[in-house]
Order: sequence, then C-alpha cells, then structure tokens
Amino acid sequence: MIGAIEAGGTKFVCAVGEKATDLRDRIVIPTRQPKETMAEVIAYFKKHEPLEAIGIASFGPIEVDKTSDYYGYITTTPKAGWENYDLLSPLKDAFPGTELAFDTDVNGAALGEYTHGAGQDVRSVLYLTVGTGVGGGFVSDGEIRNGYGHPEMGHILVTRRSDDNYKSRCPYHSHCLEGLAAGPTVAGRLGKSSHEIDASHPVFEAIADYLGQALVSYTVTLRPERIVIGGGLMKVPGLLDKVCQAFEKDLNGYLPIPKDYITSPALGDDAGITGAFLLGQEALLKE
Ligand code: ZN
Repeated sequence: MIGAIEAGGTKFVCAVGEKATDLRDRIVIPTRQPKETMAEVIAYFKKHEPLEAIGIASFGPIEVDKTSDYYGYITTTPKAGWENYDLLSPLKDAFPGTELAFDTDVNGAALGEYTHGAGQDVRSVLYLTVGTGVGGGFVSDGEIRNGYGHPEMGHILVTRRSDDNYKSRCPYHSHCLEGLAAGPTVAGRLGKSSHEIDASHPVFEAIADYLGQALVSYTVTLRPERIVIGGGLMKVPGLLDKVCQAFEKDLNGYLPIPKDYITSPALGDDAGITGAFLLGQEALLKE
C-alpha cells in the first residue's frame, strides 16, 4: 500500500491505495499550524500501516535538493507558521521503514496529468495552476524537470497592460504573472471575488492576456507537447478560451503548435493527489 499527501495552504488531502487510479480511502484536513496539522496526517496513515511509500506533493516554495540540509522543508512561504518548516522529519520519525518522496504540488499535478490525465498521449506536459497563487511544473519522458530548485513559473514577468493600474500582489515583482493574474487579484481590483462577478467582466480579459503571454514564454523555452491549466480561477466559464485566444495572438503564428495544445486537467481536482501517489510509487522503483 502507498500513501499520498497533497499538502496545500488551505487543506491537506491524504489518501492510500494500491494504484494511482484507485485511491481507495482519503481524508481532507484543514491546514492549521504545522504541529496540529501533521499530527492529524500521521494519525491517518498510522491507521493504514504498513505503507511501502508516502509521496508528498507540497505547496511551496520547498527544498527539493536531496543533498541539501533543508531537503523536505517548506522555505519562504508567507503562510504564517509554515516558513522554514521541516515537513519531512515528522513523517520520517513516524514511519521509519517507509520510503518518502517530496516534490511540489504542481510538479505532482504535472506528473499525474502526464501519467493518467490529459497528457497520457504525449511525451511532455506543462501543468499550470491559477488559484490563490500561480505555479507550474514540467514533466518530459516521465521525469519531473527541476533545476537549481523547482521551477517558479508563476513569477515569470509579463508586460503590464496600459489600462491596468493594479498594484501587483507579489511582494517581489511589480509585474509578474502571479502578481497580476492570481485569483485574489480579482478581489484586489474589484473588491469582489471571481464568484461574485459575471464571467464576461473585462477583468478576465486582462487575466487571460497575462496568462497568454506566459504560455508563449513557456512554449518558446520548453516546447511542451501539451499545456494543462487548472486551479480555482480557471473554473470561470470561458476563461480557458480567452487564454487560448490571447496565446495565439501573442505567438503570432511563429511556431507550429500541437493539436489540443492548451487544455483543462482531465483529473480535475485529483491531479495533485494522483501525482503525490505517483511520487511515492516512483520512489519505491528507484530505491
Ligand atoms: Zn512575483
């Protein structure tokens, strides 16, 4: 049996199963302070011992370099209480015989979509989530591609629209994608969330514009065979179509684009937990 954790800023999803496509049991734990959240996570997996492996797909930024003293840490998150938190050690202590794997939530989701979702028929998938934050992961030939740390695709710089005076919500960048296009920028601009306004509101044109710019940058640097865009904000009706139009306008016919290039996650909200399971499964194979 393999365990999976999708560690998010608002909730932790934990599941166990024999196969990624058959997670037979799961719970959702609201994210509170680390100690009480992890106690509940550990109690859940204790009920399902023995576990061969546990895969963790976590919100970040995190340390993914196994040679670092901080491997397994959540690092510079603004989430109170979780900054520089050693997420892996409590699990190591509680499950000494269990193989542990640790990567970002979006790398996990990319792996999930590549293996069992919208990327099953292609060799490379870029997964982007647009929600409370914006983040992305890239999988090619079955491998998650990290470099000196994991990618931070949400902080790619975009050209600000002349009609957009919104102050970026990213504390580091005045015009990065997350700062101008994450879900909370809607309420930041309008005082109302995306659920409270009509899908035809011009704010979604601006957000689609920024996302289209970013997808062009990912396309010309990584040449993925498919781009999967998920996250809460992408549930706004028609937004994906607007993003596709913005992307095509900005790419301006420069490159041939594969068919069904930009799409929604086939696994829906299960992309992350499926990926977490696969991380655990891979760790066993690599052992
Ligand atoms: Zn930024």
